[in-house]
Amino acid sequence: MPNTAADPSRLCLSQLAPATVQSEIRAMTLECDRMSGINLAQGICDTPVPAPVEEGAIQAIRDGHNIYTRLDGIQRLRNAISAKQLRDYGLGYDPESEVLVSSGATGGLHAAAMALLNPGDEVLIFEPFYGYHVATLKSMRVTPVFVPLAEPDFALDLDALRAAITPRTRAILLNTPANPSGKVFSLAETEAIAAVCQEHDLFLITDEIYEYFVYDGARHIAPATLPGMRERTIVLSGFSKTFSVTGWRLGYVTADAKWMGAISYFHDLTYVCAPSALQHGAAAGLEQLPPSFYTQLASDHQSKRARILSALRDAGFEPSVPAGAYYVLAAAAHIPGKTAAEKARYLLASTGVASVAGSAFFRPGHGENLLRFCFAKKDHELDDACDRLRRL
Ligand code: PLP
Repeated sequence: MPNTAADPSRLCLSQLAPATVQSEIRAMTLECDRMSGINLAQGICDTPVPAPVEEGAIQAIRDGHNIYTRLDGIQRLRNAISAKQLRDYGLGYDPESEVLVSSGATGGLHAAAMALLNPGDEVLIFEPFYGYHVATLKSMRVTPVFVPLAEPDFALDLDALRAAITPRTRAILLNTPANPSGKVFSLAETEAIAAVCQEHDLFLITDEIYEYFVYDGARHIAPATLPGMRERTIVLSGFSKTFSVTGWRLGYVTADAKWMGAISYFHDLTYVCAPSALQHGAAAGLEQLPPSFYTQLASDHQSKRARILSALRDAGFEPSVPAGAYYVLAAAAHIPGKTAAEKARYLLASTGVASVAGSAFFRPGHGENLLRFCFAKKDHELDDACDRLRRL
C-alpha cells in the first residue's frame, strides 16, 4: 500500500486556492489601519445605527434570543421583509416559503449560486463589477462573463450584452444601484435586460443592497416588478448599508418558492442561520422606522456625495457623479504611479486617505487610471478626509 500521507502531490491546496488573492479593498484597509489613516476604501458605513435596530438587538439578547433560529430566519423578520417588499415595490412574497434571512447579501449570493448554477455555467456581469460577485462565482467553478458598461456614464450596451450570451449562459447578475460606478439602471435599461432574460430563459440575480441610496430624484427599479420577471428573479439585499450594520452579517433573499427551498438548504449548510438576536434588531427597524428614515438616508448621503465630489475636484481628480450607492470613481491621471494600486498607495502615503485601485473592479489592464472613494462616513471624518485631499 502506498503511504498517501507522505505523497506531496496529495498534501496540496485545491486547484482554486493558488489563484486567490486578498482583495485590494481589504489590503488597503489593513494599510490604512497601520498608518492610522482615514478609510475611504472599504464600504464600511460607520454612520450611526438607528435606535430601534440597536435597542431591538440588545433587548433580544437580554430576552434570550441567542439560539439557532429556523433555517430561513425568525418569523417576525420574514414577515417584516415580506411587508417591505410589498410596501416598496408591490411585490408579494410568502414569508413562509419565499423569504430567506441570510448571512448578508454575500451569504445570499453564495446560497443562490449553489442552488441554481453548475460548474461550467456562465453568468453575465456588468463591468465595472463588485469583486465579491466575481470571486463567489469563480469559487463555485462558475464562469463570470463580463459585459462592459459604456463610458463615460456607464450606459447599458445592449449589443455587448447580447454578444456575450452563449449556450452555457444561465443568468445575468445585476447590481443596481451599482458598486463601484454608482449607476442606477433606468427603467428602459432594466426592461431591455429583462427581455434578454426571457428570450434566452435566464435567471436574473439582482443585488439591490443600495436600494435606498439614490440621488437627484433617481428611482430604484426593482427588476422583479417587470412583467414576467418575478418567477426568474432572485433578489438579494440586506441591512448592512441601510441600517449601518455591515458587521452584523444580516441580509435576505426573496424569490419564488420554486427556488427558495434549495437556496435555504445551501444557506443552512454554511451558516445554519443568520445571527439570532440581530434578526430581532433588523425586524424592529423595519417595523418601527418611518418612511422619512429612508428619504433622510438618501438626502444625508447626497450631501456627503457633494462634499467628496467638491474635494476631489479641488484636488485635481475627475470624478464621475454617482446617481446611487455611496462610492465615487475618480480619474486620477495626476497622481504618480503606473498602476491604480500604486496611485492608491501614493495617495495614502501622502494624505492619509485610503481609496481603492480602480483595477479591482475591472478585468486585468482596465481601470488603472481610476480610484474609488467611499463617502458613507461620519460627517466630521469625511470633512477631515476632504481637507487632507485638498492639501494634496
Ligand atoms: N453587494 C454589494 C454590491 C456591495 O457593495 C456589498 C458591500 O460592499 C455587499 C453586497 C455586501 O453586502 P452584505 O454585507 O449584506 O453581505
